[in-house]
Amino acid sequence: RESKGKLPKYPGLERWTLLEKMGDGAFSNVYRAREASGHGPEVAIKVVRKFEMNSTQGDNHLHPDFKKQPKVVERSNILKEVQIMRQLDHPNIVKLIDFSESRQYYYIVLELCPGGELFHQIVRLTYFSEDLSRHVIIQVAEALEYLHETAGVVHRDIKPENLLFYPSPYIPTRNPKPRAPEDEDKEDEGEFIKGVGAGGIGKIKIADFGLSKVIWDSQTMTPCGTVGYTAPEIVKDERYSKSVDMWALGCVLYTLLCGFPPFYDESIQVLTEKVARGQYTFLSPWWDDISKSAQDLVSHLLTVDPDKRYTIQQFLNHPWIRETREETTAAA
Ligand code: ADP
Ligand code: MG
Repeated sequence: RESKGKLPKYPGLERWTLLEKMGDGAFSNVYRAREASGHGPEVAIKVVRKFEMNSTQGDNHLHPDFKKQPKVVERSNILKEVQIMRQLDHPNIVKLIDFSESRQYYYIVLELCPGGELFHQIVRLTYFSEDLSRHVIIQVAEALEYLHETAGVVHRDIKPENLLFYPSPYIPTRNPKPRAPEDEDKEDEGEFIKGVGAGGIGKIKIADFGLSKVIWDSQTMTPCGTVGYTAPEIVKDERYSKSVDMWALGCVLYTLLCGFPPFYDESIQVLTEKVARGQYTFLSPWWDDISKSAQDLVSHLLTVDPDKRYTIQQFLNHPWIRETREETTAAA
Protein backbone atom coordinates (compact mmCIF):
# COMPACT_ATOMS: atom_id res chain seq x y z
CA ARG A 1 0.00 0.00 0.00
CA GLU A 2 3.04 2.24 0.25
CA SER A 3 3.57 4.42 -2.78
CA LYS A 4 7.21 5.38 -2.67
CA GLY A 5 9.06 7.61 -5.06
CA LYS A 6 6.30 9.97 -6.02
CA LEU A 7 5.94 11.69 -2.68
CA PRO A 8 7.24 15.25 -2.49
CA LYS A 9 9.72 16.54 0.05
CA TYR A 10 8.46 19.53 1.97
CA PRO A 11 10.84 22.01 3.57
CA GLY A 12 10.59 22.04 7.33
CA LEU A 13 8.86 18.69 7.47
CA GLU A 14 12.02 16.62 7.93
CA ARG A 15 10.77 15.22 11.22
CA TRP A 16 8.28 13.10 9.27
CA THR A 17 8.57 10.48 6.55
CA LEU A 18 5.64 10.57 4.17
CA LEU A 19 4.31 7.09 3.38
CA GLU A 20 1.26 7.54 1.20
CA LYS A 21 -1.05 10.21 -0.15
CA MET A 22 -4.48 9.78 1.40
CA GLY A 23 -6.45 12.61 -0.06
CA ASP A 24 -6.18 15.79 -1.97
CA GLY A 25 -8.26 18.88 -2.30
CA ALA A 26 -7.97 22.26 -3.92
CA PHE A 27 -5.54 23.59 -1.35
CA SER A 28 -4.52 20.63 0.72
CA ASN A 29 -2.89 17.24 0.38
CA VAL A 30 -3.22 14.73 3.17
CA TYR A 31 -0.50 12.13 3.73
CA ARG A 32 -0.04 9.14 5.94
CA ALA A 33 3.33 9.57 7.63
CA ARG A 34 5.49 8.44 10.49
CA GLU A 35 8.27 9.97 12.51
CA ALA A 36 11.54 9.83 10.54
CA SER A 37 13.18 8.24 13.58
CA GLY A 38 10.83 5.31 13.10
CA HIS A 39 9.36 5.73 16.56
CA GLY A 40 5.86 6.62 17.51
CA PRO A 41 2.55 5.95 15.81
CA GLU A 42 1.70 6.84 12.23
CA VAL A 43 0.01 10.19 11.70
CA ALA A 44 -1.87 12.09 9.03
CA ILE A 45 -0.35 15.31 7.75
CA LYS A 46 -2.51 17.89 6.05
CA VAL A 47 -0.29 20.05 3.89
CA VAL A 48 -1.95 23.30 2.92
CA ARG A 49 -0.51 25.52 0.25
CA LYS A 50 -0.35 29.13 1.32
CA PHE A 51 -0.67 30.41 -2.20
CA GLU A 52 -2.72 29.30 -5.09
CA MET A 53 -0.91 29.41 -8.39
CA ASN A 54 -3.09 31.35 -10.75
CA SER A 55 -3.59 29.19 -13.81
CA THR A 56 -5.81 31.65 -15.63
CA GLN A 57 -3.56 32.59 -18.49
CA GLY A 58 -3.95 36.10 -19.72
CA ASP A 59 -4.98 37.40 -16.36
CA ASN A 60 -2.27 39.97 -16.50
CA HIS A 61 0.08 39.50 -19.41
CA LEU A 62 2.05 42.53 -18.44
CA HIS A 63 3.22 40.84 -15.29
CA PRO A 64 6.49 38.96 -15.97
CA ASP A 65 5.25 36.01 -13.92
CA PHE A 66 1.67 36.09 -15.10
CA LYS A 67 1.29 32.32 -14.99
CA LYS A 68 1.91 32.12 -11.30
CA GLN A 69 0.74 35.19 -9.57
CA PRO A 70 0.23 34.17 -6.02
CA LYS A 71 -3.18 34.55 -4.47
CA VAL A 72 -3.02 34.30 -0.73
CA VAL A 73 -5.18 31.66 0.89
CA GLU A 74 -6.83 33.21 3.89
CA ARG A 75 -4.17 32.61 6.46
CA SER A 76 -6.46 33.36 9.33
CA ASN A 77 -8.71 30.42 8.38
CA ILE A 78 -5.96 27.86 8.73
CA LEU A 79 -4.84 29.40 11.97
CA LYS A 80 -8.43 29.39 13.19
CA GLU A 81 -8.83 25.73 12.28
CA VAL A 82 -5.68 24.90 14.19
CA GLN A 83 -6.53 27.10 17.13
CA ILE A 84 -9.92 25.47 17.50
CA MET A 85 -8.54 21.95 17.18
CA ARG A 86 -5.96 22.71 19.85
CA GLN A 87 -8.73 23.24 22.40
CA LEU A 88 -10.43 19.95 21.66
CA ASP A 89 -9.99 16.68 23.47
CA HIS A 90 -12.55 13.99 22.78
CA PRO A 91 -12.26 10.33 21.70
CA ASN A 92 -14.53 10.97 18.70
CA ILE A 93 -12.64 13.98 17.40
CA VAL A 94 -9.40 13.79 15.41
CA LYS A 95 -6.60 15.11 17.58
CA LEU A 96 -4.17 17.78 16.54
CA ILE A 97 -0.62 16.58 17.13
CA ASP A 98 1.47 19.39 15.75
CA PHE A 99 1.35 22.49 13.61
CA SER A 100 4.13 24.22 11.73
CA GLU A 101 4.70 26.15 8.55
CA SER A 102 7.25 26.94 5.90
CA ARG A 103 7.29 29.81 3.45
CA GLN A 104 4.85 28.08 1.13
CA TYR A 105 2.96 25.60 3.28
CA TYR A 106 1.12 24.97 6.50
CA TYR A 107 1.59 21.55 8.05
CA ILE A 108 -1.18 20.20 10.23
CA VAL A 109 -0.16 16.94 11.87
CA LEU A 110 -3.17 14.91 12.95
CA GLU A 111 -4.03 11.68 14.63
CA LEU A 112 -4.33 9.11 11.83
CA CYS A 113 -7.66 7.45 11.07
CA PRO A 114 -6.55 4.41 9.09
CA GLY A 115 -10.08 3.48 8.02
CA GLY A 116 -10.48 6.62 5.96
CA GLU A 117 -13.82 8.22 5.22
CA LEU A 118 -17.13 6.86 6.36
CA PHE A 119 -18.32 7.92 2.92
CA HIS A 120 -16.43 5.05 1.28
CA GLN A 121 -17.99 2.54 3.67
CA ILE A 122 -21.47 3.68 2.73
CA VAL A 123 -20.57 3.29 -0.92
CA ARG A 124 -19.10 -0.15 -0.22
CA LEU A 125 -22.02 -1.47 1.80
CA THR A 126 -24.75 0.43 -0.12
CA TYR A 127 -26.40 1.27 3.19
CA PHE A 128 -26.04 0.46 6.89
CA SER A 129 -28.31 -1.67 9.02
CA GLU A 130 -30.14 0.17 11.80
CA ASP A 131 -27.75 -1.24 14.39
CA LEU A 132 -24.70 -0.17 12.46
CA SER A 133 -26.20 3.26 11.71
CA ARG A 134 -26.93 3.73 15.40
CA HIS A 135 -23.44 2.62 16.34
CA VAL A 136 -22.01 5.27 13.99
CA ILE A 137 -24.38 8.14 14.66
CA ILE A 138 -24.09 7.88 18.44
CA GLN A 139 -20.37 8.45 18.17
CA VAL A 140 -20.86 11.47 15.94
CA ALA A 141 -23.48 12.77 18.35
CA GLU A 142 -21.22 12.35 21.36
CA ALA A 143 -18.57 14.40 19.59
CA LEU A 144 -21.20 17.04 18.83
CA GLU A 145 -22.40 17.02 22.42
CA TYR A 146 -18.85 17.76 23.49
CA LEU A 147 -18.39 20.45 20.83
CA HIS A 148 -21.70 22.19 21.49
CA GLU A 149 -21.89 21.93 25.25
CA THR A 150 -18.34 21.77 26.51
CA ALA A 151 -16.10 23.37 23.90
CA GLY A 152 -18.52 25.97 22.52
CA VAL A 153 -17.69 25.06 18.95
CA VAL A 154 -19.88 24.47 15.93
CA HIS A 155 -18.40 22.31 13.21
CA ARG A 156 -20.53 23.48 10.27
CA ASP A 157 -19.27 20.88 7.82
CA ILE A 158 -20.56 17.55 9.13
CA LYS A 159 -20.77 15.10 6.23
CA PRO A 160 -19.63 11.55 5.50
CA GLU A 161 -16.38 12.79 3.89
CA ASN A 162 -15.40 14.45 7.15
CA LEU A 163 -16.25 11.47 9.34
CA LEU A 164 -13.24 9.19 9.58
CA PHE A 165 -12.77 5.99 11.49
CA TYR A 166 -10.48 3.47 13.10
CA PRO A 167 -11.58 0.14 11.69
CA SER A 168 -12.68 -2.48 14.12
CA PRO A 169 -11.40 -5.97 13.37
CA TYR A 170 -14.98 -6.93 12.57
CA ILE A 171 -16.24 -5.02 9.56
CA PRO A 172 -19.05 -6.38 7.44
CA THR A 173 -18.09 -7.14 3.88
CA ARG A 174 -21.66 -7.01 2.71
CA ASN A 175 -24.95 -5.86 4.06
CA PRO A 176 -26.80 -8.47 6.08
CA LYS A 177 -30.25 -7.14 5.44
CA PRO A 178 -31.73 -8.57 2.26
CA ARG A 179 -31.65 -12.32 2.88
CA ALA A 180 -33.87 -14.76 1.12
CA PRO A 181 -35.61 -17.21 3.50
CA GLU A 182 -34.08 -20.19 1.67
CA ASP A 183 -30.61 -18.81 2.47
CA GLU A 184 -31.32 -18.55 6.19
CA ASP A 185 -29.21 -21.50 7.20
CA LYS A 186 -26.45 -21.03 4.63
CA GLU A 187 -22.94 -20.20 5.68
CA ASP A 188 -22.30 -16.44 5.62
CA GLU A 189 -19.94 -15.41 2.88
CA GLY A 190 -19.00 -12.16 4.48
CA GLU A 191 -18.62 -11.13 8.03
CA PHE A 192 -21.81 -9.88 9.53
CA ILE A 193 -22.62 -7.16 11.94
CA LYS A 194 -24.62 -8.90 14.59
CA GLY A 195 -25.74 -6.04 16.69
CA VAL A 196 -23.91 -3.08 18.01
CA GLY A 197 -21.82 -4.76 20.66
CA ALA A 198 -20.08 -6.86 18.03
CA GLY A 199 -17.60 -4.10 17.33
CA GLY A 200 -19.51 -2.15 14.76
CA ILE A 201 -17.43 -0.36 12.23
CA GLY A 202 -14.92 0.89 14.73
CA LYS A 203 -14.28 4.26 16.27
CA ILE A 204 -15.70 7.23 14.40
CA LYS A 205 -13.87 10.56 14.51
CA ILE A 206 -14.94 13.96 13.29
CA ALA A 207 -12.32 15.67 11.12
CA ASP A 208 -11.94 18.90 9.14
CA PHE A 209 -12.50 21.94 11.31
CA GLY A 210 -11.86 24.22 8.34
CA LEU A 211 -15.31 25.79 8.57
CA SER A 212 -15.80 25.51 12.30
CA LYS A 213 -16.45 28.44 14.55
CA VAL A 214 -16.18 29.20 18.22
CA ILE A 215 -19.47 30.21 19.70
CA TRP A 216 -20.35 31.13 23.19
CA ASP A 217 -23.54 31.05 25.07
CA SER A 218 -24.66 32.75 28.19
CA GLN A 219 -24.29 29.45 30.05
CA THR A 220 -20.68 28.52 29.43
CA MET A 221 -19.38 32.07 28.94
CA THR A 222 -16.66 30.84 26.62
CA PRO A 223 -14.64 33.35 24.46
CA CYS A 224 -15.85 36.62 22.98
CA GLY A 225 -16.01 38.67 26.13
CA THR A 226 -18.96 40.13 27.95
CA VAL A 227 -22.25 38.45 27.26
CA GLY A 228 -24.18 41.21 28.95
CA TYR A 229 -23.72 43.60 26.06
CA THR A 230 -24.58 41.20 23.30
CA ALA A 231 -27.61 41.88 21.14
CA PRO A 232 -30.40 39.27 21.12
CA GLU A 233 -30.05 38.56 17.40
CA ILE A 234 -26.42 37.64 17.97
CA VAL A 235 -27.28 35.34 20.85
CA LYS A 236 -29.98 33.83 18.65
CA ASP A 237 -27.50 33.44 15.80
CA GLU A 238 -25.18 31.50 18.05
CA ARG A 239 -27.99 29.25 19.09
CA TYR A 240 -28.97 28.67 15.48
CA SER A 241 -25.44 27.81 14.51
CA LYS A 242 -25.60 24.70 16.68
CA SER A 243 -28.77 23.65 14.92
CA VAL A 244 -26.84 23.71 11.65
CA ASP A 245 -24.83 20.73 12.90
CA MET A 246 -28.06 19.00 13.97
CA TRP A 247 -29.52 19.34 10.49
CA ALA A 248 -26.33 17.87 9.05
CA LEU A 249 -26.52 15.05 11.60
CA GLY A 250 -30.01 14.29 10.28
CA CYS A 251 -28.70 14.21 6.71
CA VAL A 252 -25.94 11.82 7.73
CA LEU A 253 -28.33 9.53 9.62
CA TYR A 254 -30.76 9.49 6.69
CA THR A 255 -27.91 8.63 4.31
CA LEU A 256 -26.56 5.87 6.55
CA LEU A 257 -29.94 4.18 6.78
CA CYS A 258 -30.85 4.13 3.10
CA GLY A 259 -27.65 4.85 1.18
CA PHE A 260 -28.63 8.09 -0.50
CA PRO A 261 -28.97 11.64 0.80
CA PRO A 262 -32.33 13.19 1.78
CA PHE A 263 -31.93 16.12 -0.61
CA TYR A 264 -30.61 15.74 -4.07
CA ASP A 265 -31.04 17.30 -7.46
CA GLU A 266 -28.80 17.74 -10.48
CA SER A 267 -29.68 21.40 -10.52
CA ILE A 268 -28.22 23.38 -7.66
CA GLN A 269 -31.16 25.76 -7.83
CA VAL A 270 -33.75 23.01 -7.46
CA LEU A 271 -31.69 21.40 -4.72
CA THR A 272 -31.45 24.66 -2.82
CA GLU A 273 -35.20 25.07 -3.10
CA LYS A 274 -35.83 21.54 -1.81
CA VAL A 275 -33.58 22.12 1.17
CA ALA A 276 -35.15 25.48 1.94
CA ARG A 277 -38.58 23.85 2.06
CA GLY A 278 -37.33 20.76 3.82
CA GLN A 279 -38.71 18.72 0.96
CA TYR A 280 -37.65 15.10 1.44
CA THR A 281 -39.45 11.77 1.66
CA PHE A 282 -38.86 8.35 3.13
CA LEU A 283 -38.70 6.88 -0.33
CA SER A 284 -40.27 3.48 -0.94
CA PRO A 285 -39.12 0.74 -1.20
CA TRP A 286 -35.82 1.73 0.43
CA TRP A 287 -37.41 2.97 3.61
CA ASP A 288 -40.12 0.31 3.88
CA ASP A 289 -38.22 -1.86 6.33
CA ILE A 290 -36.68 0.91 8.37
CA SER A 291 -38.30 1.35 11.76
CA LYS A 292 -40.81 4.13 12.43
CA SER A 293 -38.70 5.12 15.40
CA ALA A 294 -35.67 5.79 13.19
CA GLN A 295 -37.85 7.78 10.79
CA ASP A 296 -39.24 9.78 13.68
CA LEU A 297 -35.75 10.70 14.80
CA VAL A 298 -34.67 11.72 11.30
CA SER A 299 -37.77 13.89 10.91
CA HIS A 300 -36.99 15.75 14.14
CA LEU A 301 -33.57 16.62 12.76
CA LEU A 302 -34.69 17.51 9.25
CA THR A 303 -37.05 20.14 10.61
CA VAL A 304 -36.88 23.46 8.80
CA ASP A 305 -37.62 25.62 11.84
CA PRO A 306 -34.38 25.63 13.88
CA ASP A 307 -36.37 26.34 17.05
CA LYS A 308 -38.27 23.09 16.62
CA ARG A 309 -35.31 21.04 15.42
CA TYR A 310 -33.86 18.61 17.97
CA THR A 311 -30.90 19.76 20.02
CA ILE A 312 -28.10 17.33 20.76
CA GLN A 313 -29.70 16.45 24.12
CA GLN A 314 -33.07 15.73 22.55
CA PHE A 315 -31.31 13.60 20.00
CA LEU A 316 -29.49 11.57 22.63
CA ASN A 317 -32.74 11.10 24.58
CA HIS A 318 -34.73 9.77 21.65
CA PRO A 319 -35.85 6.15 22.16
CA TRP A 320 -34.12 4.94 18.98
CA ILE A 321 -30.81 6.13 20.42
CA ARG A 322 -31.43 5.42 24.09
CA GLU A 323 -32.45 1.82 23.58
CA THR A 324 -28.82 0.86 23.17
CA ARG A 325 -26.71 3.86 23.99
CA GLU A 326 -25.40 2.48 27.27
CA GLU A 327 -24.56 -0.82 25.65
CA THR A 328 -22.68 0.86 22.81
CA THR A 329 -20.79 3.25 24.98
CA ALA A 330 -19.69 0.38 27.14
CA ALA A 331 -18.49 -1.60 24.13
CA ALA A 332 -16.68 1.31 22.44
P1 ADP B 1 -10.46 19.57 3.30
O1 ADP B 1 -10.61 20.87 3.98
O2 ADP B 1 -9.63 19.62 2.06
O3 ADP B 1 -11.77 18.85 3.11
P2 ADP B 1 -9.91 17.53 5.32
O4 ADP B 1 -9.35 17.85 6.64
O5 ADP B 1 -11.36 17.15 5.25
O6 ADP B 1 -9.56 18.73 4.31
O7 ADP B 1 -9.06 16.34 4.67
C1 ADP B 1 -9.32 15.90 3.36
C2 ADP B 1 -9.39 14.37 3.32
O8 ADP B 1 -8.15 13.81 3.77
C3 ADP B 1 -10.43 13.76 4.25
O9 ADP B 1 -11.71 13.76 3.69
C4 ADP B 1 -9.85 12.37 4.46
O10 ADP B 1 -10.11 11.55 3.33
C5 ADP B 1 -8.37 12.63 4.52
N1 ADP B 1 -7.95 12.86 5.93
C6 ADP B 1 -7.92 14.03 6.58
N2 ADP B 1 -7.52 13.89 7.85
C7 ADP B 1 -7.28 12.57 8.03
C8 ADP B 1 -6.85 11.77 9.14
N3 ADP B 1 -6.57 12.31 10.33
N4 ADP B 1 -6.72 10.42 8.96
C9 ADP B 1 -7.01 9.89 7.77
N5 ADP B 1 -7.42 10.57 6.69
C10 ADP B 1 -7.56 11.90 6.80
MG1 MG C 1 -13.11 17.82 4.30
